[in-house]
Parts: sequence; structure tokens; C-alpha cells
Amino acid sequence: MSAKLIDGNWLANQLKEKLKKDVDDLKAATGRVPTLVNLMIGDDGGSCAYAQAQKKAAEFIGVDYQWIHLPYNISQEDFMDYVNKLNHDPKINGILIHRPVPEAIDYRLALSAIDIHKDIEGINAVNIGRMLLGETTIIPCTPAAVMALIKSTGLTVRGKDVVIVGHSDIVGKPLALLLLRELATVTICHIATSEAGRLKEHVAQADILIVAVGQADLIKGDWIKEGACVIDVGINKAGSKIVGDVEFEEAKKRASYIAPVPGGVGPMTVMLLMKNGIEVFKLQTRKE
Ligand code: NAD
Repeated sequence: MSAKLIDGNWLANQLKEKLKKDVDDLKAATGRVPTLVNLMIGDDGGSCAYAQAQKKAAEFIGVDYQWIHLPYNISQEDFMDYVNKLNHDPKINGILIHRPVPEAIDYRLALSAIDIHKDIEGINAVNIGRMLLGETTIIPCTPAAVMALIKSTGLTVRGKDVVIVGHSDIVGKPLALLLLRELATVTICHIATSEAGRLKEHVAQADILIVAVGQADLIKGDWIKEGACVIDVGINKAGSKIVGDVEFEEAKKRASYIAPVPGGVGPMTVMLLMKNGIEVFKLQTRKE
């Protein structure tokens, strides 16, 4: 068997055209376009690619995207004040905090400062709580991207054994909630699963396997169940190349569908961030 590739670039391009039209329509109706701010503390060369991709997508769609660099040594208090100013600025519709932040900044605390109506990543505590209860349309972008990739295959998750490797607050945990909402049987693995020597056996059970760890080749291709759908979220540098967490070539021989790195989850994550930006703009202008 050779898996079909799930083409995240193609899916993202389709969505991009739709979002552009949405913004054109909003501009015609309100005379304004969504304005989103990406707050970057210092200059992290490593993860700038994500912000560059956001900027490029925003330009195409017609969203006003402001990438603000704050000094590396900014204090927590000054940072919170800055966020608060943006919260009260009616011209700003959406805010996100670029990761990683310097050690001196408490990321969770910083996140909690963002007005919940401007939290376009949907990851502050209130929005995660609302997502748990199915009460919000602002869904964290990477988990939403994973769901979109799975759906693009035509597979349904109901009743499937879905294994997520990685339990972070921004990927694994919210993704588990989205899958549960659709009645998948969800297992979440993490570092302690590996420590207990049980990662392989869990992975081998997965009808749908999602991996978000950040370790190249952590998941061996021959662990994968024949015919499984594999979504690799990991981003790792391997020399001059970017690779995921799954041994791609080996996994491809066993899986039915596989999302490659790069070109899988990443492009959809960016586009779904833009979608959230448009959604918060709609919610805010409806209230005015
Ligand atoms: P994180 O560092 O917050 O969490 C890592 C997770 O991996 C934890 O649950 C940890 O317990 C688990 N883990 C670590 N070592 C393990 C091991 N040996 N066996 C099993 N589990 C192990 O990570 P994150 O922020 O969720 O990001 C994970 C990866 O996904 C990174 O490579 C990141 O760059 C990538 N990512 C990609 C996108 C995208 O849009 N494509 C978005 C977010 C994150």
C-alpha cells in the first residue's frame, strides 16, 4: 500500500479564496477590514516562518496584519499593559502572542490578558472552556487544521480509535475535545507513555494517528496500523530540511492517508487563524 497524501497546501489555497471573498464582502458592508496584531517579544529567527506565512496569507486575503516587535527585555507588567491597550483599541479586532516568549514572561498569564473576544487563537482559558462546552465558533487553529485534514479524506471519526501523541494546551488537549465532540474514541499519549514503554502499542491501535511532539522520527513507520490515517503535526529541522515526527517513507507504505511535513497541517493552521480573525471581526461589528 502507498498512502494518499493529504495536500494541506491545496486545502489552504481553497480556503484562502473563500476568505478573500468574505473580506471583500465585509469591506463593502462596513467600510473596514479585520485588523489583527501579532505580538512578538524580541526576534525569534527560528519560528518567524510561521509569522511570515501569516503575513503573506493576510496580504492575499485583504486582512490588515500588524506584526509588532516588542523589546526582548520587556517586563511582564509592561507587556500586560500593552495587551490591555490593544484590548481597548476599537481598531484592533484580533490579537495573538507569538511563541516562544522569553523566560521572564509568563505565557499563560500573558494569554489571559487578551480580551476573550480578540483571542484569535482561541486558547485563552475562557475560550478553551467554551470550546469544551461547544459554545464558541473560535476554535484553536492547529486542532481545527487537523480536523479539516481528516475530513478532507472523507473519513468520519465517529467510533474510530484515534490516538494523539502530545498533550500540549495548544494542540493535543483541544484536539481531543474536538474529536470527542464527534464521538471518536480518543487516547492521548505523552512523554510518560514513552517512559512506560507503551507508545508503540498505543500507536499500533490507531485508525487515525495524530502526532504533535517535536521529535524527528519518534514514530517508527512499522508501528503504524495498516490502512491508518496519519496526521503529523511536528516540525523539526533536519539539516536544511523540515521534517515531522513520523518516519514518513516507512509510514507511507502502511497508511491509507498521510499528511506530509511540510505541506500538511502548517498551511491550514495559518489559514484557520485568518478565518478566526474574520470571525471575531464579524462578532465585534455585529455588536456595534
Ligand atoms: P509541546 O512541547 O508543548 O508538547 C510536546 C508534547 O510531546 C508533550 O505532550 C510531551 O509530553 C510529548 N512528548 C515529548 N517527548 C515525548 C516522547 N518521547 N514520547 C511521547 N510524547 C512525548 O509541543 P507543541 O507546542 O504541542 O508542539 C508539538 C510539535 O508540533 C512541535 O514540533 C511544534 O513545532 C509543532 N506544531 C506545529 C504546528 C503547525 O501548525 N504545524 C502548530 C503547533 C505546533
